[in-house]
Amino acid sequence: MIKKFLSTWKFLTDTLIYFVFPPLCPVCKEIVDERGDICAPCLEKILRKDFHPKPSAHIEKVMRITKYRGGVQKLLHKLKFDKSLSTLPALKKILESVSTDEIVTEFLKGIDLAVCVPLHAERLKERGYNQTELIFSDWLKSLNIPVENILLRTKKTKKLFDLSPTERKKVLQGAFETVEGADVAGKKILIVDDIYTTGATVTECAEALKKIGAAQVDVLALASDFGN
Ligand SMILES: [Zn+2]
Repeated sequence: MIKKFLSTWKFLTDTLIYFVFPPLCPVCKEIVDERGDICAPCLEKILRKDFHPKPSAHIEKVMRITKYRGGVQKLLHKLKFDKSLSTLPALKKILESVSTDEIVTEFLKGIDLAVCVPLHAERLKERGYNQTELIFSDWLKSLNIPVENILLRTKKTKKLFDLSPTERKKVLQGAFETVEGADVAGKKILIVDDIYTTGATVTECAEALKKIGAAQVDVLALASDFGN
């Protein structure tokens, strides 16, 4: 009796919540099936699965999943700069939507382990989380790609977005180290990052990994304009 009452009560409250606060596409605010979903037309506009024509030094291939424009830009800014996790489900769903796409599965074939671009300890403390880790970790695990935090950002740099490519390169030089005992010798490593801009950050990461024997380094970015 109580069980039946509780399930009816839950049904009623869920229905009420649905009508008062319906699940909305975080990009265009149209009603969607589930909370966190991006509607199909927005998703289609966002996705752009392709490779950088000129990957940086030490990096074999750079793949992006979306353009760094409108919708995704808004979602990432909220997560990164407003310290709000409200757009995380949508960002994770973007990745889930491409899990079985051939271009993605081919690219990920043979990867031994993935590394998220780390934040400096102070930045991590200030933000409370590494947004790249939050976006990618579950997805990589679901694809049986182990994620290891073997990179450290040892140099605190100012925010990079208003620096020129040359300035970025200079500021980031020697900014990353690998943790003691990191075992990457002969392995194929995937660096994941939320946004790929000039490639200066991931190039420095790749260099640190190559220094301790990584055989190959690829990069997967959620969003990029590939320098345009
Ligand atoms: Zn939409």
